[in-house]
Amino acid sequence: MGQSKAMAGVYIACAAAACAAAAVVLTQRVKVRSQKYTARKILVEFQEACETPLPRLRQVVDAMAVEMHAGLVSEGGSKLKMLPTFIDHLPDGNEKGLYYAVDLGGTNFRVLRTQLGGLEGRVIKQEYEEVAIPPELMLGTSEQLFDFIAKELVSFVAREGEDFRLHEGQSREIGFTFSFPCKQTAVNSGTLLQWTKGFKVNDAIGQDVVAALQGSIERRGYKMRIAALVNDTVGTLAGGRYWNNDVMIAVILGTGTNACYVERAESISKWGGELPKSGQMVINMEWGNFWSSHLPRTYVDELLDNESLNPGEYGFEKMISGMYLGDCVRRVLVRMAQQAGIFGPHVPHKLLEAFTLQTPDMSKMHHDDSSDLKMVAEVLKTVYGIHNTTLGIRKIVLAVCDIVCQRGARLAAAGIVGILKKIGRDGSTANGFIRRNDVNGIHDELTVNSIGGSGKTVVAMDGGLYEHYSKFRNYMQQAVRELLGDAAKNVFIELSKDGSGIGAAILAASHAEYVPT
Ligand code: ADP
Ligand code: MG
Repeated sequence: MGQSKAMAGVYIACAAAACAAAAVVLTQRVKVRSQKYTARKILVEFQEACETPLPRLRQVVDAMAVEMHAGLVSEGGSKLKMLPTFIDHLPDGNEKGLYYAVDLGGTNFRVLRTQLGGLEGRVIKQEYEEVAIPPELMLGTSEQLFDFIAKELVSFVAREGEDFRLHEGQSREIGFTFSFPCKQTAVNSGTLLQWTKGFKVNDAIGQDVVAALQGSIERRGYKMRIAALVNDTVGTLAGGRYWNNDVMIAVILGTGTNACYVERAESISKWGGELPKSGQMVINMEWGNFWSSHLPRTYVDELLDNESLNPGEYGFEKMISGMYLGDCVRRVLVRMAQQAGIFGPHVPHKLLEAFTLQTPDMSKMHHDDSSDLKMVAEVLKTVYGIHNTTLGIRKIVLAVCDIVCQRGARLAAAGIVGILKKIGRDGSTANGFIRRNDVNGIHDELTVNSIGGSGKTVVAMDGGLYEHYSKFRNYMQQAVRELLGDAAKNVFIELSKDGSGIGAAILAASHAEYVPT
């Protein structure tokens, strides 16, 4: 009797414990479900805010063409600076001799030399070196930055092999690729307007960057001449045109983003000087600073912009380029961690730090096609120390990557089609004229179909984002096809890997002081 009472007590205790355990499990399940519900809600809201259906993309295309026009009409007429580059003739393959290039514009700095052999020999030999820019120099003084560049350049020159030959009487001439907005006053001089892409070397603003580099080289006892100051887009355009006459546009999708194209000089109403004989001028759009109310802006973009080094500026770049895509993803994850607790009761400390999720890591997660999303788990673990994510949460993370990538890629596509529209190569022209009321009434018929000839248009593309992030590339190409319809058959986007370096060297050749005979 005593024993059975005791047994009953044990049973009751066990049942109570089991009930309590079941209740804990149930509460946890409910909690997990409600976490997932909240996270999904955040996801869906973000997705809707980022949508870029075709009609919206077309509005972005039109806005780009309108802003291009406005930026060419007057200084400050648009957020698009539409900077004349003073490049009025592009290489044609006849260039000969030894030329150098220096390329500063993002995460890496490159020096390059090339021996050009004219139409027969083309690029006989080429060598380059790449050095990461010490982060402190990106925020230091102008002298430190240009001295560093000069030091790397002269040490590269000192290692010039015998295959590279200067003509008698020729000094080494350099194409200087400097991928920040500059107001040029000649092909080889220009003052820096502002920094972008995480650089902030304040005393360089307003300085002639060619004179600054030239000075640093001379202080090291070297005699070299900077023949051309070029933006990386312009270098890419020149590098593409060297091989193919149909190249009219160049686009960079790397750390930052930008585009340039060949414009009819007469269309540049703000141009005060004499019109170039060629009738053409390459325009550096600085399209990273493009803005339109049609762009799908979200809380993520607002936060990112407010906390950036250049708030209120380069809004387009902040939506589409490699420096920012990963951080857009991170900010959505922060919201999910804070409001839905998807990574546990505490938000991982590092997740709160800006730029900790880099675009190559986002891309790794996005390309994860394993059934259990191993790579997503791996990146969350190695970058943020987040363990034990459920498959459901990993799927949500993947979906965020997809939304951010797709939006960026489709907006980049709209930008390209906007340029095609401006130069009359988007298929919307009849007999070489843009239809009236097209582009909000702007029908710049002089620019239409009047430059170049084969009917094909090639866009030279460079940048690590486009090159390595294949889902981004595919989304972009798909959107270009959607926007152009039938006209897409005449438009070719060609990767011109590191074209900006060789392009700058070739531009140094076509703008050299010494012209070999
Ligand atoms: P930069 O623009 O600095 O001159 P790149 O054109 O090489 O240099 O582009 C580098 C940028 O490309 C990186 O900052 C990164 O944002 C992006 N990138 C590089 N590799 C990848 C990758 N595997 N996936 C996605 N983005 C990448
Ligand atoms: Mg680059």
